[in-house]
Amino acid sequence: MPRHPWRYDHLTWLEIKAAVARDPQPVVAVPIGAVEDHGPHMAISTDNDILEDVLAECGRRAAGDLLVLPVIPFGLDEHHMDFPGTIAIDMETTLAYLSQTAISVARHGFTHILIVNGHGSNQSICDLAARKCVIATGTVCAATTVNAAVSPALVQDVLDAERKGGWGSVGHACEYETAMMLHLHPERVDMSKADRDIGQLKLTYFNWDHPEPSAYTWQDWWSRFSREGICGDAAAATAEFGKRMMDVTVERFVAMVREFRTIAIRPRVDHH
Ligand SMILES: [Zn+2]
Repeated sequence: MPRHPWRYDHLTWLEIKAAVARDPQPVVAVPIGAVEDHGPHMAISTDNDILEDVLAECGRRAAGDLLVLPVIPFGLDEHHMDFPGTIAIDMETTLAYLSQTAISVARHGFTHILIVNGHGSNQSICDLAARKCVIATGTVCAATTVNAAVSPALVQDVLDAERKGGWGSVGHACEYETAMMLHLHPERVDMSKADRDIGQLKLTYFNWDHPEPSAYTWQDWWSRFSREGICGDAAAATAEFGKRMMDVTVERFVAMVREFRTIAIRPRVDHH
C-alpha cells in the first residue's frame, strides 16, 4: 500500500503534531465496521470494504481537511452468529475499545472527531463512544455513517428516488450494499446467487426498510427472519446504482466534514 497523506497512521509523529497546529485543523475519522454474513452472494468483508473505500475517496477528495484512521474491523454482532464466519465482540468491549480510540486522538490535540460507522448494530455504541469522548476531553466528537443501509440520512433523497427494488429493498446485503460492492469490488460478488429476501416485518409503527423510519428500534436474531443473510433485494442491484451512490456519498461527506469542523468549542459555565 502506498503512503497516503490522508491516512492518520501513515504520518510521522512530527506530521501529526503539525496537523494539530494547523488552523483550521483536519477532522479525524475513526471508522468501525464488522465481519459478518452478507448473503450467499457477497464476501463477509462487505461492511469493512464499503467503509474503507468510501473514506479513502473522501480522504483524497478532502485535500488535507480529513485524516482517516484504519478501520476497526469488528463490532457488535452476536445476533448474526447463526451464520458462519461472523465475528462478535460484546457491547462493553466494543464501547470501551472505540471510545478509547477516539479519546486517544483527542488527547493529542485534535478538536473535531467523527466516529464513522459501517455496520448497523454498532450505531448506538458509536453514539455512546462519541459522548464518552466529549465528556472526557471537551472536543467535538460525533457519530455518523457512510453506509446508507446503516442510516440513509446523508443520501436519503437519491436512495429513495433511484433504488429499483421498492419497499424492503434496502436493509442488509441488500440492493444498496450489493450495488456498492458491484461498483467497488465486483470480484467479491456473485450475482447468480443474489436473492430477494424480504422476511422482515412491515407494521404500522415498525418496518425494516432503512430509508423509512420506524417508531421504535428492535433487533432480532437474524436467523429468525432472514433465510440466507439478506434483508432486502440484492437481485435489484446494479454497478451503475453503486457508482451513483458512491459519488453522492463522497461529495456530501466531504461537504459535511468541512461544515462539521466549523462548529465552535464554547466554554462550559458552572452555574452552581
Ligand atoms: Zn452490511
